[in-house]
Amino acid sequence: MSTDAAPDSVAVHAGREDLTALGVHALPIDLSSTNPLPTVECGGASYESMAGGGLPTDGGNVYARLWNPTVARFESALAQLEGTDEAVAFASGMAAVTAAVLAARARQGGSHIVAVRPLYGGTDHLLASGLLGVETSYCGPGGVAAAVRADTCLVVLETPANPTLDLVDIGAVVLAAQGRPVLVDNTFATPVLQNPASHGASLVLHSATKYLGGHGDAVGGVVAGDAEWATALRRVRAVTGGILHPMAAYLLHRGLPTLPVRVRAQQASAEKVALWLADHPAVERVFYPGVAECDPTGLVGRQMRGPGAVLAVQLAGGFAQAARVAERVRLFTHAVSLGGVDSLIQHPAALTHRPVAPEARPGADVLRLSIGLEDPADLQRDLAQALG
Ligand code: PLP
Repeated sequence: MSTDAAPDSVAVHAGREDLTALGVHALPIDLSSTNPLPTVECGGASYESMAGGGLPTDGGNVYARLWNPTVARFESALAQLEGTDEAVAFASGMAAVTAAVLAARARQGGSHIVAVRPLYGGTDHLLASGLLGVETSYCGPGGVAAAVRADTCLVVLETPANPTLDLVDIGAVVLAAQGRPVLVDNTFATPVLQNPASHGASLVLHSATKYLGGHGDAVGGVVAGDAEWATALRRVRAVTGGILHPMAAYLLHRGLPTLPVRVRAQQASAEKVALWLADHPAVERVFYPGVAECDPTGLVGRQMRGPGAVLAVQLAGGFAQAARVAERVRLFTHAVSLGGVDSLIQHPAALTHRPVAPEARPGADVLRLSIGLEDPADLQRDLAQALG
């Protein structure tokens, strides 16, 4: 893909550079779990290269846990969209977070993490669990400089953050991290609206399950970064076995050409729904980067190219009203996840953020909405009957 192509063109063509030479037009799916070895010696050399985080050599792909061409095409596309050297894909967003933490430990030496809250409940829980052998200090964006230590191997943040869409100034956190690598979870913004690497992030992570696939039928995760990070991530992936399945890689890659149009259309509807909700008497507060009070330092425009298509609401009637609305919607689906073509609504405190420590858990009166491609007037009608 030419380096001066516009992002919409990159989304359509990236990761497909070898298709013409292969004589095919659609993405090929290589489902081989193992591969014929030309000789013992060159097969062994290829194995050694991949087990260390490198690429296959002329000994071939050897074994599907190490490397797969269908997965590699998706990785190349995502790296081009994020403006990084490379990307490494995993079986889920949480497998990607796990690998990023283990790679940071291996590269940096220390085992202390600084985590900027709020975070997706699964990430918050994983970092608190001790399962990965790390100690985590939680703080707000302003607390990073005080929280980093000599043994800090990674600073983790989300922007917009799940579930209340808090915005974090990536460049300011990179400065406060004083040389420690910063991982930005870019799931909510997608590369269409934000490229964290251009603001100094070392690692850019996606739950590909969400917008990248966009159709709610594939689970995956991906981390983009420079060549050294990619080697460290592939090494963790080869050793721990978290590689993305090629069928999922195919579906996720197939989602990328429509990513820009989906995100922009869903965002346009989200802006309408957010404004309408802000005026509704049953709504105490709308959390959405397009609402001025949610973006006091003007990060939309400066860091993000738009406010996105996820929002949250705080309801006047507390938990009972929140539960009633989630259960009464008809066009929205009451379900976790986000970023698909259809609109979803869910109760973070009871579901996605259930494992978060009580002091950091979202309120029981908060619902998160992911706006899909339906007509926004129909979505408003559905919310009106559910709120009523
Ligand atoms: N990061 C964010 C912001 C998420 O919302 C999620 C899942 O909801 C994850 C990471 C984890 O991704 P996955 O569910 O694909 O493991």
